[in-house]
Amino acid sequence: MKQQQTITRESRILLVDDDPGTIRVLAEILKGTGKVHFTTRGADALPLAQSVAPDLILLDLEMPDRHGFIVCEEIKADSLLSDVPVLFVTAHTDVELEARALKVGALDFIHKPPHPQVVKARVSNYLALKHQTDLLRMLSLIDSLTGIANRRAFDEAIHNEWWRACRNEYPLSLLIFDIDYFKRYNDTHGHQAGDDCLCTVADCLAARPRRPGDVVARYGGEEFVMLLPGCPLEHAVTLGETVRAQVSELEIAHANSDIVGRVTVSVGAAASQTLCERAKVCWRNLGRHHGNVACGLAPANLIKLADKALYQAKEGGRNRVEVIDIETDSSMARHKS
Ligand code: GH3
Ligand code: MG
Ligand code: MG
Ligand code: MG
Repeated sequence: MKQQQTITRESRILLVDDDPGTIRVLAEILKGTGKVHFTTRGADALPLAQSVAPDLILLDLEMPDRHGFIVCEEIKADSLLSDVPVLFVTAHTDVELEARALKVGALDFIHKPPHPQVVKARVSNYLALKHQTDLLRMLSLIDSLTGIANRRAFDEAIHNEWWRACRNEYPLSLLIFDIDYFKRYNDTHGHQAGDDCLCTVADCLAARPRRPGDVVARYGGEEFVMLLPGCPLEHAVTLGETVRAQVSELEIAHANSDIVGRVTVSVGAAASQTLCERAKVCWRNLGRHHGNVACGLAPANLIKLADKALYQAKEGGRNRVEVIDIETDSSMARHKS
C-alpha cells in the first residue's frame, strides 16, 4: 500500500495552557509518548494546530485571552482538525461544566494537578485510538487493487477543490482516462492479467510529478481520474497527452486491440474556468451558495464535461485526448456566461 507509512510516524501532542508551569509538568510527563508542541495563548491554538496537525490536544479551560470552550469549538469547526481528540485540563470538578465541555466536542478530562501515571495512560489510549481511526480512514480512501486513491477520496477531493478554486478564482482541471478495449483484454489475457494491467497503468499515472492538491484516483473499473487544481485547460491537455503516450510506451501487449497491439488509453479533459464564469455572475446576484445552486453548477458539471470529452475520444478512434468546446456544446449551453 502506497500510503501506509503515514501511520507509523511519531505522535504529535499539542499543549495549550496559559500557565507555563503546567506546560512544563505535562511536557515532562509526556516525554517518550510523542513530540510535544505548546502555546500559552488560546488564540494561537487553532493556527498552531493547523500547522502542526496534532494527534491529540490537551487544552486548558480557563485562559485569559480565549476560553477553552471557544478554542475547542474553533478546532472542531476545522474540517482537517475535527477528528483530533481534545482533552480538557482543568482544576474544575463541576458536573455542568464537564457536560458542556463534552458537548463542545471534548473527549475527556485530565484533572489538575496532573497525575503522571493517569495522564500518560490516558494520553496513550487516546493516541492509539487516533492512529486506528487514521488507519481506517486511510484504508477507506485507497483502492484495494491498485493502492492509489479510490472513488471516495476523489469525490471528497473534487468537492473541496471545486469550492477552493471558485473562491480563489483559479482553474480546476480534470482528466478522465479509460483503458481501450479492456473487456477484450480480460477475455484474451485473463482476469488476473487484467488486474496486473490496471496496477501498471495506475502506477504510471501516479508516477506523474504532483503538486499539492493534485489527486490521481481510480474512478471505477478501468477508469482513472487526475484532478489538477490551479492547472489551466491547455496544460491539462498537454499532461493528458504525455500520460497517454507513456501508457502506450509501457508496451503492455494487447493481442485483441484494434489500435496498436498494446494497451492504450483514451482521455477526456475539462476545466472549470468557463463554468465558473457563469457562477461568478450568479454569486454577485445571489451569494456564493445560492448562486451555484441557482445556475446548477457543481463539481458534477466538470465530471460530466470530461466524460463527454472521453466519449468523443472513444468515438474519434481511441488512444487520444479530447476536449469539449463549451461554446458550441448544446448540453452545456445554459452554463455559458
Ligand atoms: P472501450 O474501449 O470502449 O472503453 O471498451 P472497454 O472494453 O474498455 O469498456 P467496457 O466498459 O465494455 O469494459 C470494461 C471492462 O473492464 C469490463 C470489466 O470486466 C473490466 N474491469 C472492470 N474492473 C475490473 C477489475 O477490477 N479487474 C479486471 N481485470 N477487469 C475489470
Ligand atoms: Mg489557565
Ligand atoms: Mg470504461
Ligand atoms: Mg475502456
